[in-house]
Amino acid sequence: MRKTLTVAFVATLLTAAVAHASDDHKPHWGYSGHAGPEHWGELEESYHQCAMGKTQSPINITGGPHRDTQTVAQRYASAPLKIVNNGHTIQVNYAGGSTMTVDGKEYELVQFHFHSPSEHTQDGSPYPMEGHLVHKAQDGSLAVVGVFMKEGRENPFIQQIWAHLPHEVNHEVSVEGASLNVADFLPANKAFFNYSGSLTTPPCSEGVNWLVMDQQVEISAAQVKQFLDLVHENARPVQPLNGRPVAHRM
Ligand SMILES: [Zn+2]
Repeated sequence: MRKTLTVAFVATLLTAAVAHASDDHKPHWGYSGHAGPEHWGELEESYHQCAMGKTQSPINITGGPHRDTQTVAQRYASAPLKIVNNGHTIQVNYAGGSTMTVDGKEYELVQFHFHSPSEHTQDGSPYPMEGHLVHKAQDGSLAVVGVFMKEGRENPFIQQIWAHLPHEVNHEVSVEGASLNVADFLPANKAFFNYSGSLTTPPCSEGVNWLVMDQQVEISAAQVKQFLDLVHENARPVQPLNGRPVAHRM
């Protein structure tokens, strides 16, 4: 009798400790099991668009014949290297002043981060990784540039970041004396697929202007493994297109 009570008490303490550790005033979400992508919409009222949204991301991209002219201007400056492991991805926080103008609307680059495998797929297949450059306009709306990463040579831009991968979660690491320019990460060919989608993580907010680059950049298998060993797979499955147009622009 006494033994049973003790076990139950310890179990309660453990549950309380686990609940507290993940109590970041938003529920824990992840990429597998009960907190996985198919359950995001049930975890919290403010995540309802993850389940109910009709213009969600990522999507499968097929190379359509439609092409119109791009009106995109990117003005990226070098920024001090600041890296954070937020428990869902590796994110590089970018200093203010780097902008992208899309169809006359100006956005500022806020951060970029990575997914493995890629979240968008091309003709039904994922790439080993995808980078997301998150830009914010003054009215709060977002434009995200997606960059597919295929297996190939070691990527020197990525190596700068991977050399300082933070193991501690939610602790931004400023790498002394190091800076980088995200322009060095982008493919040479600036053609892209353009569609209206959402954040690919809770709360899955819609109205995101997506620009997914057509040309891939390379990353070595060892670099992909280094990311996966630390972060593990972090790709939301593709979502229904629901008739949205995807423009192929160049
Ligand atoms: Zn992302």
